[in-house]
Amino acid sequence: MTLIFDDLIEMMRFCKGDFDRERILAYVHERNTVTLHLLLSSTTRALLGMLGNLIRNFAMRVVKTQEKVRHSSRTNDIRDSVELQHMEAMMGPELPFDIRLFEQLVAETDGNVRATYQAAQSSPPQRSFYEQGMLVDADIPEALSPVLQKLFGDIMPRLENQIDGVAIYTADTAWLGLGEDEEANKRAGRQQYDVLRKCAIPPNAKVRQCRRCGSVIENLVDGHMAAWVQNAHKMCICLSHWIVA
Ligand SMILES: [Zn+2]
Ligand SMILES: [Zn+2]
Repeated sequence: MTLIFDDLIEMMRFCKGDFDRERILAYVHERNTVTLHLLLSSTTRALLGMLGNLIRNFAMRVVKTQEKVRHSSRTNDIRDSVELQHMEAMMGPELPFDIRLFEQLVAETDGNVRATYQAAQSSPPQRSFYEQGMLVDADIPEALSPVLQKLFGDIMPRLENQIDGVAIYTADTAWLGLGEDEEANKRAGRQQYDVLRKCAIPPNAKVRQCRRCGSVIENLVDGHMAAWVQNAHKMCICLSHWIVA
């Protein structure tokens, strides 16, 4: 989400009021950025919308759970509380924007793309042709030109006012492996993430791997993990079993 806002703000600056499709396309290809296509292509846009919604709901649940365990004196609760506090900060004050702004970005773009397709009276086969062009050739269909104008001329300027621009600019997104920095991308390729706890696994830690989907988790010793992790650890998120790698 941070990377998407960062890229869009830069593109908006680059536009300087000129929303010519070819010019923006040339910029996107030169920078090799995937952000605009993630938003314009219907499949990835739907996924972004779901993701924003999931994360916001998760963040709200973290706050509620934290309220429950905060005053408890049980050892497990105290340990959970520390971890929850950390997560609460990560999805709240430490984010350069309110997650709702991200959802707004996706929803408004979605409304615009739909309205634009409708106004152009493009048939379903035509739309699927446009969508394929975006996915396969990184094209932006001429038909979506009005969306570019709306996105960079109206939606983003409005949202930017409510975003901490400096924090966005300085946020580290190289670990995503989507940038141009080769060293950072190599590092990103080596890094493994715990599919249950959604955190980075330290370099030399033992891992367990799912034999169906290939996801990994850190092979934690019983008793050294929060209660919810202990429960969740029994199975992979795809409901298959782990093997110790
Ligand atoms: Zn889950
Ligand atoms: Zn799995």
